[in-house]
Amino acid sequence: MKIIVLKFGGTSVGTTDRIKKVAKIIAKYKKKYHVIVLSSAMSGVTNNLINLSKKISKNFSDSEYDVLVSSGEQMSCALISGELINQGFNSRSWISWQIPINTEGKYKFSRINKINKSKILSYLKQGGIPIITGFQGINNKNRITTIGRGGTDASAIMFATFFNAEKCVIYTDVDGVYSTDPNKLKSAKKIKVISYEEMLEMASLGAKVMQPHSIQDARLNRVDVEVRSSFTDNEGTLITKKKNIINSKIITGISNTTNDAKVTLLGVRDKPGIAASIFKPLSENSINVDMVVQNISANGKETDLTFTIKSEDLTKTKKIILQNKKINFRDLIFDKNVSKVSIIGVGMVTTPGVTYRMFQSLAKQKINIQVISTSEIKISVLINKKNVRKAISALHKEFKLNK
Ligand code: ADP
Ligand code: ASP
Ligand code: MG
Repeated sequence: MKIIVLKFGGTSVGTTDRIKKVAKIIAKYKKKYHVIVLSSAMSGVTNNLINLSKKISKNFSDSEYDVLVSSGEQMSCALISGELINQGFNSRSWISWQIPINTEGKYKFSRINKINKSKILSYLKQGGIPIITGFQGINNKNRITTIGRGGTDASAIMFATFFNAEKCVIYTDVDGVYSTDPNKLKSAKKIKVISYEEMLEMASLGAKVMQPHSIQDARLNRVDVEVRSSFTDNEGTLITKKKNIINSKIITGISNTTNDAKVTLLGVRDKPGIAASIFKPLSENSINVDMVVQNISANGKETDLTFTIKSEDLTKTKKIILQNKKINFRDLIFDKNVSKVSIIGVGMVTTPGVTYRMFQSLAKQKINIQVISTSEIKISVLINKKNVRKAISALHKEFKLNK
């Protein structure tokens, strides 16, 4: 019998009624497959745990944070298993260290690098349904680790990889990947098939429906991923290799971020090495600088430098810049009211004029573009947060995504 991996997100296991529905979905697959289940914590539970850690300290220990926030998954897995046992199935919950799932990297941001297969395989052979805690593992010191918010997507894809599963099905609260967030734009259209490359860009640029690392793992390991809803039986979206896709659209999707901040240094000395002096200490402190723009110096002496970071890094960034003795500037400005809006599509590689059409349709809405960045399959612009809905709606129309 073939193996299938099913992942259930927070809303899908949000109440005991939802968990009963999830058990029914699992039971259906069990008729045809050996089923491995990965579950998130019930919705809201991980956030509550994080808030508790903040009440103890703003600098709560990273290793204890992982022990704390990983506990939500234990609860939901036991509830799913309990319900399956109730229905007469052979099922048990597995906590990451019992398997074990091995990770590497820092606490809070580890990555799964190995999964021990023996116990799960023999359990599957006995007809059991393992319900496994997502979002976590153990490191080489035998300590509990977590793999970043939304990490159960990556846990499921790594299980599909190690167990050579036929596919990995991600059950969530929307019935697929849409041209843009369907909860924000009513005319968003479901995408039937999307390439890893486009999905990775959409996820990295803000489409919460899949965690970006999970798509990197799926692409590397060639795992077919189906995204569907645990609330309806509608067909979902397949995330797969480019060569399986025939697509006539220039743009596949539009994403936007909600946690960017803009930093501007006014009147910086315009001389070689200055940008390096600004960015080196930021990178040494693990602050990820994203979009960068430097104005042309009018007098040859001074210039303005603007860049974006994650808004949670704002305080740290401010401190680092103010303490940096290697740079001089006239003023330092921070702006949290920004959002990066991106259009994504492999079709733009072969289609001229996409940039122009994007900028023109934003201009028609009187939306000012603050910073621009591009890659082969995406164009991103930084705009004022208040214009995001208007921008997405205009771009959605311009590139005929509602058709
Ligand atoms: P889960 O808890 O199941 O992991 P998430 O909340 O992480 O679910 O992801 C699902 C949400 O992603 C949806 O409710 C939707 O609002 C959001 N989303 C953002 N962009 C998209 C998109 N392009 N397509 C579908 N959903 C999207
Ligand atoms: N429960 C974790 C979170 O909320 C992991 C997940 O949902 O995938 O981030
Ligand atoms: Mg998620």
